[in-house]
Amino acid sequence: AVEEGFDAEEVTDALDDAGHGPLPVLAVVGRPNVGKSTLVNRIIGRREAVVEDRPGVTRDRVTYEAEWSGRRFKIVDTGGWEQDVLGLHASVAAQAEFAIEAADAVVFVVDAQVGATDTDEAVVKLLRRAGKPVVLCANKVDGPSGEADATYLWALGLGEPQPVSALHGRGTGDMLDEVLRVLPDAPAQSFGAMPGGPRRIALIGRPNVGKSSLLNKVAGEDRVVVDDTAGTTRDPVDELIELGGRTWKFVDTAGIRRRTHLQEGADYYASLRTAAALEKAEAAIVLVDVTESISVQDLRIIGMAVDAGRALVIAYNKWDQLDEERRYYLEREIERELNQVRWAPRVNVSARTGRHMEKLVPAVETALAGWETRVPTGRLNSFLGEIVASHPHPVRGGKQPRILFGTQAGTRPPRFVLFASGFLEAGYRRFVERRLREEFGFEGTPVQLSVRVRE
Ligand code: GDP
Ligand code: GDP
Repeated sequence: AVEEGFDAEEVTDALDDAGHGPLPVLAVVGRPNVGKSTLVNRIIGRREAVVEDRPGVTRDRVTYEAEWSGRRFKIVDTGGWEQDVLGLHASVAAQAEFAIEAADAVVFVVDAQVGATDTDEAVVKLLRRAGKPVVLCANKVDGPSGEADATYLWALGLGEPQPVSALHGRGTGDMLDEVLRVLPDAPAQSFGAMPGGPRRIALIGRPNVGKSSLLNKVAGEDRVVVDDTAGTTRDPVDELIELGGRTWKFVDTAGIRRRTHLQEGADYYASLRTAAALEKAEAAIVLVDVTESISVQDLRIIGMAVDAGRALVIAYNKWDQLDEERRYYLEREIERELNQVRWAPRVNVSARTGRHMEKLVPAVETALAGWETRVPTGRLNSFLGEIVASHPHPVRGGKQPRILFGTQAGTRPPRFVLFASGFLEAGYRRFVERRLREEFGFEGTPVQLSVRVRE
């Protein structure tokens, strides 16, 4: 039932589209109100306007995919962040620190109408220390008369200021050309970069779920907890931990160890740290506190791991505190809220008593295996043929779209491209994904499905 009548070029194009490896990361940093969000929106433009069809999992975007001159990259937006949590200086420094750490190149946005402030100077120091390529964006140069303002910014010592009006689009193309000139082709921290090394795990979850306790438990020692002041520059620390007979790298643990407990409202700051850890990791262990209701923040963090395309394990912590009644409600919450990630292995642990610590490693190994699964094209297509025969797409407007051919464009996570004779409805795509999972496993991994409609 499946035709293979596609020309090679068509297939190669689709694979290029869906099968790219890890993308280099561009961070956009600067003081509040200099125009970072406006600039990011302009760069990602229409691409993000496409409505994502994935109900249930809440998203909180920090990173976006962007494309310029045929090159793709990820862009980290630090614009949504709240400034009053730590005080202006420390906040800007802290958010810039995380964003820069996660990035392969940085766009530093300065308001040319205001000129360089002390806070801008503080960011310049961070940029110097990080040593990553920087493009200086002199924003709010809305017309030729503003060009002079931009030239003052040479004084920052970051090279030529690029005069831009993020609001009107003026100069953004030239600036992006400059960005592409300095942006490396592949991310320096890409997981593809070091095959055979220790597998990298991000231990994430909202504050107080027990990340630090769990890390201490698995590391087998109680380390001194450093109570650092937020905003001071610190390198994220990757810790090598021996577990179940192999070495694992827990990435970005400094934030966990540091125990800076920010007040409520620091969500964005936490999201940024989570995004940075996910960038470096292959698998994520998301910790959930069973003594509290599953929150929007929990869902957001799980959504970030899924969006980042990482292998996923959900660890339900503080199991020692669970009574019958709470357990009853917990199971219902999981059913209701986490239905979308039913495929993620679940472990019920207690960082306090050590309960089921030994189950973490097998769960992560299962998830990584799913993440790396490759389905041979022949097998995939006989499976798709069965689906088309037994569960055809509903007829719409007198037409019946059909899957013609499919191929796996990549792994880590598995990415599939389906070629179809017409638009496949979201419900049908979800059905295909569900059947793919039943057939081939993919336990613990997101599966990405894109559809190419044959014109
Ligand atoms: P962020 O806090 O750095 O993300 O800044 P926003 O993108 O939210 O922009 C802050 C304000 O500056 C908004 O009112 C924008 O409309 C305005 N703005 C952004 N870019 C430009 C620009 O190029 N020219 C002018 N005149 N205003 C701008
Ligand atoms: P983090 O903010 O995610 O790093 O969380 P912490 O590790 O600091 O833990 C927050 C609080 O939860 C601390 O008081 C811990 O002692 C407590 N805690 C962590 N894990 C467990 C657990 O498994 N059982 C119980 N009862 N308490 C825990």
